This record gives sequence, structure tokens and C-alpha cells, in this order.
Amino acid sequence: MKLFLSTALIFLLFLGCTSIDENRKPNIIILFADDLGYGDLTSYGHPTIKTPNLDQMVAEGMKFTNFYSGSPACTASRYSLLTGRYPVRSGFAWVLVPKSPRGIHPKEYTLAEGLKDAGYATAAYGKWHLGVTKPDYMPLQNGFDEYLGLPYSNDMLPPKWKDMPLIDGNDTIEHNPDQTLLTAKYTERALNFIERNKDNPFFVYLPYAMPHVPLHPGAEFNDSERGKYGDVVEEIDWSTGVIMDKLKELGIEENTLVVFTSDNGPWIIKDERGGSSGLLRDGKGSTWEGGMRVPGIAWWPGKIKGGSLQTERASTLDLYNTSLKLAGIDLPGDRPIDGRDISPLLFEKELSESDRFFYYGLGNKVFAVRKGPWKLHIKTYSQTGKDYFEGKLPLLFNLSVDPSEQWEISDDHPEIVQELQELIVQHQEQLKSEPTYFDQDQ
Ligand code: MG
Repeated sequence: MKLFLSTALIFLLFLGCTSIDENRKPNIIILFADDLGYGDLTSYGHPTIKTPNLDQMVAEGMKFTNFYSGSPACTASRYSLLTGRYPVRSGFAWVLVPKSPRGIHPKEYTLAEGLKDAGYATAAYGKWHLGVTKPDYMPLQNGFDEYLGLPYSNDMLPPKWKDMPLIDGNDTIEHNPDQTLLTAKYTERALNFIERNKDNPFFVYLPYAMPHVPLHPGAEFNDSERGKYGDVVEEIDWSTGVIMDKLKELGIEENTLVVFTSDNGPWIIKDERGGSSGLLRDGKGSTWEGGMRVPGIAWWPGKIKGGSLQTERASTLDLYNTSLKLAGIDLPGDRPIDGRDISPLLFEKELSESDRFFYYGLGNKVFAVRKGPWKLHIKTYSQTGKDYFEGKLPLLFNLSVDPSEQWEISDDHPEIVQELQELIVQHQEQLKSEPTYFDQDQ
């Protein structure tokens, strides 16, 4: 009898363990820097900015070298990350200002709403920038249980703008807060939320206020060789480190996917206060590679192989499909979703879904398309005012051979130019028949 009972107990314990491991939905954390360039981390080649925690994340996880934001500008990029859709579907071409009457449409089904429907606790701490003039536009009305942050960019300050509120939930708790405390405040809230939710699935979206200008590092971050820009990046690196440490301390690191990336390329017209796109051309605001290709690091101990390098193309739009898939729920079926489930890439398997990516620039227009290594520009723009190829269009580059977009080869490959032009026309035709959620519906 004793033997039977202990065997039964072991069997039940075994059943219990496997059901916990196999049925537990993974926690998801997205760390989203603002205006951090492709070349601004040690692991992406910066010679003086020190990012040991992000280096460790790379050593224990996967580094993407062809990872894109959804737009070269803040609002449109955030929209794409949270909906898995190209910015054109929202009508957000660029950046909302504090008094803008527009915001994220209530019909959008955000990543937070999806994960909430899958039973997740959800929180956003940081820059929102998807509308502020109606309660409907704010995080708590878009799937987040908790919010603390600035509702728009940290340079939208008095006297040009009336006020910079720090919002907790739906309430303003401070006006024009001390920005040197922001990264620490967001991090502290995230750590607290993770601790409170360690026993159930959770989603944390942490869109840092910086290194968008003005640069306000915390008091302890004051000695980077790269000056204040380096200081704020090193503070974000610290934030990443304490979040990974917390997951390890709670023993939930093997059930948590952490992704670190940036909303767009560096603001290069800000000179020393802006970052670096490394070997890529141009920066924020442009659909040259430096405007949209950003660092992308994925970490999930025990699931993602440490030190792996992923050269396949992926984007922030893909985080939508991938996260919902991992949470075990279906994509909304009543609208087009432009992202892809990239979990096969995380686990080093082949991705079979379509490999095309449209670069949306100013005015909600397609500026370029990428398929495989080929990128065709049909429009270009740079905040620097430079026209690098003296008005020539279209422009073709092979990004595998030439990530810096130096050697224009459209004359050598007319058939590829034609194929990519047709892709753009098909995409634009298809858009006409698909639902978009614009202001006029509101
Ligand atoms: Mg930005």
C-alpha cells in the first residue's frame, strides 16, 4: 500500500510538473529604446558606449542583424509594433503632437488587448505617443492594466507646448517631471510588476523616453566616454540588466521572452546628441537603412540558443504575430496583419512566410520595398537635406553585399527592378480594398 501511494504521489507530482511547464504561457517583455541607432551598442560595434548587460543578452540569446522598426518615426513605429500593421493602415504617417485630435483607433486590436484576452497581466511604462486628447487613445483603454509614463516625446515641452504630464493610469501625477529620474522610475515599476505577477503570464512593454533628445541620464550615469548620449544608453543597459536579473532571481527566466529593440534610427541631425547608425546610411526620418534597421536582441534562456546570430529579416511588426502565437491565441481575422510569426527564426528553423517588407515614409507613402537581399527605393528623403544619388530613381541595392547602400545597381538588374516595382503596385492595389482605421471613422 505504501509503495502504491508513493508511486501514485510521484506520478501525480510528475503530471503536475509537466502540466506547469508545458501549459504555462511565456511571459513577454519588450524593451523599446527611442532613437537608438544600429551602431550604438557594444555588440553592434560602438567603440566607446559600454553596454555589458546587452552584451550578456546577446551572449545568452539571439542577435538580429536585419531587424527593422515599422517606421522611421516615433508614432507610426509604435503603432506598427502594437498592431502588427503597416502605419498606412492607421493613417499615422509620422508623429503626433500633444494637441493632435487623433489617436489609435478604438477598433484596433493591440498586442496588449490580445495578450489580455489570453489571460496575461499587462503593463506599459514609458513613452506612449499614440494619442492623448481622448481617454480612448490612452494605454488603459488599449489593453494595458497599468501605465506610467510621458504620453509623447520628451522634447514636447513648455514653452512650445503647454505641459509635459507624467501619467499614472489615466491620471496626471506630475507636470514637467525631472527627466533624470524617468528611466529609473520606469524600471522600478517594471520590476515591481514582474514580482507581483511572477505566478501568472504577464506582458511588459517598456518604451524608454531616451536616447531621444533632450538627454537626461540619471545622476549615477555620468562618465561615459561618449558623453551624455553614452550616459543615457548605458542607463538603459543597466535597466535591461536589472530586469534580466529579476527574472533569474524569481526563477522565471526560462519562461520569459525578452526582446530589446528601438523605435527608429538615430536622430543624426542632432550631431553629438544623436546616435549612430554604424555602417548604415542616414538615420531617423529616412527610409535608408539607418532610419529603420535597428538593434534587435531576443533572449529566452533554455529556448533561444545563446550566442546565436540571425541574419534573416525580421521587424517589430512580427513581434505581434509571434507573441500572440506563443500565447496560444489567434490573430484577429477581420483585418490584414502585416507581421509574421518569427518563432521559427528564434528557434533557428526556416521561415516559410512571405519575405517582403515595405518601408513607409513621410505622407504615408511607400518609399521602398525589400525582398530577400534586394531593396528598391522609389522615393527618398533625408532630414539632412542630402540627396545621395542626385535625383536618380528608382534605386536598387543588394543589402547582403552592400548594407551601406553605396553601390546602386538598377541598370544591371532591370528584371529585379521590374519585379519589385510590381510588388509595390500590387500592395497599393490591395490596400484599397482592405479595412483601415482612420480619423474619419471616429
Ligand atoms: Mg523615436
